[in-house]
Amino acid sequence: MTTVAIIAVGSELMRGKMNDTNSTYFARWFENLGMRVKYRVNVADVGSEIVAAMRFCKDADILVTTGGLGPTKDDLTRIAAAEYAGKELVFFPILWKKIETYLKAKNYPIYESNKQQAYLWDGVEVLDNDCGTAPGLFYRNGKQIVVLLPGPPSENKVMAENKLLPRLEKYNIIQGKFFTEVVRTYGIGESGIADLFAANDDGYFELGYYFSIEGYIELHFRRFSDNGVKPKDFDDKVAAYLKILADNKVFYTEDKPIEQVLYETLLKKKKTISFAESCTGGKVSSTFVKTAGVSQVYAGAVVSYTAEMKQKVLGVSADTISQHGVVSAATVKEMAAGIKKITGSNIAVAVSGVAGPGADTDGNPAGLVWFGFDIDGKTEEFSVKLAGMRREQVIQKAVNQIFVYVLLKIK
Ligand code: AMP
Ligand code: MG
Repeated sequence: MTTVAIIAVGSELMRGKMNDTNSTYFARWFENLGMRVKYRVNVADVGSEIVAAMRFCKDADILVTTGGLGPTKDDLTRIAAAEYAGKELVFFPILWKKIETYLKAKNYPIYESNKQQAYLWDGVEVLDNDCGTAPGLFYRNGKQIVVLLPGPPSENKVMAENKLLPRLEKYNIIQGKFFTEVVRTYGIGESGIADLFAANDDGYFELGYYFSIEGYIELHFRRFSDNGVKPKDFDDKVAAYLKILADNKVFYTEDKPIEQVLYETLLKKKKTISFAESCTGGKVSSTFVKTAGVSQVYAGAVVSYTAEMKQKVLGVSADTISQHGVVSAATVKEMAAGIKKITGSNIAVAVSGVAGPGADTDGNPAGLVWFGFDIDGKTEEFSVKLAGMRREQVIQKAVNQIFVYVLLKIK
């Protein structure tokens, strides 16, 4: 498997003045070519440090830098690369002609400093820059291929596609491919999943567990194929893992937002939905409407925060609230009945809880959330205790819980 090192050069990156989007972009770019990114390094515009970064990355098959190819004094990548290769930089008039022509065509002024970009050494292939002045470079340094790309994303993306990719193909450097299946699981932590998988893990997949702030774990089943063809047993192996999830009642979806999965399922089943929200303050609704086309299945929502609103708008009885409190099975049941009456939807969902951080005035602890459902006339209420979570997490988990529950019931 071909390995890659990405060095993003620029003092602005080191100071946190600018996000290093180049590294992220090229990490994906090489991953998609079936290569493994081994190192990602950020380094300032300091010649000796750029050389040190390059030496650090010497055992990668391909070393790619971005940035520092411009015409100013702080653009030192070319000089550092020459030192790393043990070469002397020489002025290439042909290259200078090209740069001059580009500048003239654009009606840009031509400065003496631009000449700096026309220095390289024999054996280096120039990657023409169709979107700027700084040419890229491509050369072999012993066993390693070194590629220097300009810093601006608008320039290096085009250069990678049009100039670098054809060379990687020509020199047969692209071999094999990664195949990855991704699912999202809800209601269980990474270690919980890892435990379930332990007995089945024969090393076939490089398993990845990625925690998302949206309250799910993304699972990656990843395998490299030498010949670029999907391995015969790949799907069966994925299925074996998914069966473990299903057998252990772990809810999972394909790799898309859960609200989108719910929308598609409601559409397929020809059902409509509405929400009566308290502690989520409209987040169930605002999350659900992220998917375009949602009006086909979504009636609307009421956000009722005070007891009074729950009574006046949703018709929750004063007795229910005084006897059971607003965070209770009885209240969410009546809230669900209320929103169902208003909207006439097939499915009505109510949520009332304590987002925290403190307990509520009735003494309910932070993290206690009650849910009420009316699904085609069948009602159910249950509560969860989301202890030890921040306020936003409690709200997010409550939102997910609603989508998961409805999906489980109507699937
Ligand atoms: P340079 O070639 O180092 O002069 O970079 C020119 C410009 O490219 C910078 O001013 C940034 O706007 C952009 N740039 C450089 N490096 C990066 C990077 N790692 N990620 C995103 N943008 C970058
Ligand atoms: Mg720079």
